[in-house]
Amino acid sequence: MFVDKVRITVIGGRGGDGAVAFHREKYVASGGPDGGDGGHGGSVILRVNDNLSTLLDFRYKRKYAAQPGANGQGRNMAGKRGENLVVEVPRGTVVRDGASNQIIVDMSTGEDYVIARGGRGGWGNAHYATPTRQVPRFAKAGLKGQERDIVLELKLLADVGLVGFPNVGKSTLLSVTSNARPKIANYHFTTLFPNLGVIYVEEGVSFVMADIPGIIEGAAEGAGLGHDFLRHIDRCRLLVHVVDVSGSEGRDPVEDFHAICAELKNYSVDLSSRPMIVAANKIDLLPPDSDNLERLGKAVEEAGCELYEISAGTTQGTKRLMQAVAERLRTLPPVTIYEPEYVEVIQAPADPSAFEVEHYGSTWLVSGTWLERLVQNINFEDYESRNYFDQQLRKSGLFAWLEEMGIQDGDTVDIYDFAFEYQR
Ligand code: GDP
Ligand code: MG
Repeated sequence: MFVDKVRITVIGGRGGDGAVAFHREKYVASGGPDGGDGGHGGSVILRVNDNLSTLLDFRYKRKYAAQPGANGQGRNMAGKRGENLVVEVPRGTVVRDGASNQIIVDMSTGEDYVIARGGRGGWGNAHYATPTRQVPRFAKAGLKGQERDIVLELKLLADVGLVGFPNVGKSTLLSVTSNARPKIANYHFTTLFPNLGVIYVEEGVSFVMADIPGIIEGAAEGAGLGHDFLRHIDRCRLLVHVVDVSGSEGRDPVEDFHAICAELKNYSVDLSSRPMIVAANKIDLLPPDSDNLERLGKAVEEAGCELYEISAGTTQGTKRLMQAVAERLRTLPPVTIYEPEYVEVIQAPADPSAFEVEHYGSTWLVSGTWLERLVQNINFEDYESRNYFDQQLRKSGLFAWLEEMGIQDGDTVDIYDFAFEYQR
């Protein structure tokens, strides 16, 4: 079974809690705070594995969660970091946001992608000791990891896509020109999942060709097989349209040619305007008195395409066709890599009670779901990001609310692992 689209949930590990502890030693009356920080939660990371060619594994497992961080302990012992979870996907997997369907990342280049960040570990009480506050009896809990629903969609990376009715000889053509060994049989839809083959034309010149299951009329509307498979030629730089010119199946080659062109257009205008080379196949079966080749030649010329006569069965003309394809590819832009569309928008809460505030003397610990998400997206090492954080806090109405609760100048505001002195 070929699976090329799945919906899964990825969850970063929770950060470990910070510890509340005090140094204890014989003959030392009262030690300082030494509660260690919680470990950061592990992240879920997407990685390309070229040995995979379908998303089948994801059908049976829908949730992917990385390890949580361990809690901090006394004696300044930090909790162990949660392990990352590496999720392997076939090259060419396009990852979309489950809710908006926007593209998050195209796993085509081979670079790892962090799809769900682990939560930060909470600070232990040792972190909260100041000259005026030597006995902090609090620590912070770890943050939840990022959780998201995503859709994985496989869109093969191939230079050339073979299109045409079932049984016209697409798989045969791929098998005689490449290293691929697709299933070949004299009945419709023998190809149930795409096959990729590498075609070596000459030293240093090669390309990848994909054989997808036959397109039939009405496929773009979802009738029968083929519809789902059209996405695999979305990225192709060039289409090779195979037509059975002998009419060995009792169909007319010119009608076939027009039907497939209409089908491609139905699916996407973009795809139908892709450069196309037509292969008139099975010329070995062409009856001597047939005018099929002539008529097809005319139709193809009207469509502005080149026509090559071949017999995939006897390999007649196939080499010349592959050379023409390679030549044409040289003039075409590279395979499409999709740009990300998804931007995470974090809206400030309208309601100040969306914050939780804990108050210990002159220290104010502020938390809340919105803040968690905000903090996870801020790089505190970066000045611009810190500025943005400050602006967001002001806009959120948090400070006005703290004022109302009696915060004083010089008090400390702790927001997760970010702390600053309050100034009006
Ligand atoms: P696909 O459905 O387009 O992939 O078609 P296949 O490659 O599976 O071929 C369908 C049938 O046509 C098989 O029985 C092939 O052996 C046969 N066939 C393919 N190309 C040729 C050809 O050039 N000449 C002849 N005589 N038979 C062919
Ligand atoms: Mg086939």
